Amino acid sequence: MSIYQIAVDGPSGSGKSTLAKGVAKKLGIMYLDTGAMYRTCGLCAVKNGIDPKNEEQVNAMLDDMKIEVKFENGIQHMILNGEDVTGQIRTPEVSMAASSVSAHPKLRVKMVDMQREIAKSQTFVLDGRDIASNVLPNAKYKFYVTAPAEVRAERRLAELKELGDESQSYEEVLADIIKRDEQDMNRAVSPLVQVPEAVVIDTSKVDIEQTRDLLISYIEEVR
Ligand code: C5P
Repeated sequence: MSIYQIAVDGPSGSGKSTLAKGVAKKLGIMYLDTGAMYRTCGLCAVKNGIDPKNEEQVNAMLDDMKIEVKFENGIQHMILNGEDVTGQIRTPEVSMAASSVSAHPKLRVKMVDMQREIAKSQTFVLDGRDIASNVLPNAKYKFYVTAPAEVRAERRLAELKELGDESQSYEEVLADIIKRDEQDMNRAVSPLVQVPEAVVIDTSKVDIEQTRDLLISYIEEVR
């Protein structure tokens, strides 16, 4: 069967990565988490004392920043300048830094080039903000996954708790989500948008397994 791509876009905490992972597992295809790539850039800024909002500083950082995506048994690992940083990119600080650095065009071009290169080799499901609108506008399937900010904040809080991070209250997590939505939807380059042809999925209505099966049944119907 020929190579095809599935684009899954949506805001933070919408459940898109859980969904994309589930789809990849069930269909036996690869999964690329593009947010992890921007998170690694955000981590690089944090580690080097660079202001993630300062475009000049971030552009200068790019010259020495080497990012690699490695798949081990289908699991994505993020390598920053030779170090596996997969376990370091989910903190609230890195989340916010990722959202800020991802607004800078030069950095985005670098990440998007890598994403296109990776996705052309095999059948992939990719999740992110601009997959359908920018990275792979010809993706065969396009989904926009969403849920109200309050539901997403509850989920993020549970995720952080699972990682052993109880430093933030529900109110703080909700405020972060709203701020990241603001940044991600209103930036000048490749903002989060819902392309008209995308199938919209609200993950607050049904559980994640049912949502995954819905998505797969849609893919099978079109295929
Ligand atoms: O999806 P996740 O929350 O891990 O993404 C982290 C940040 O990376 C987002 O807030 C967003 O600013 C950025 N991002 C992006 N484009 C993508 C994926 C993520 O700008 N394709």
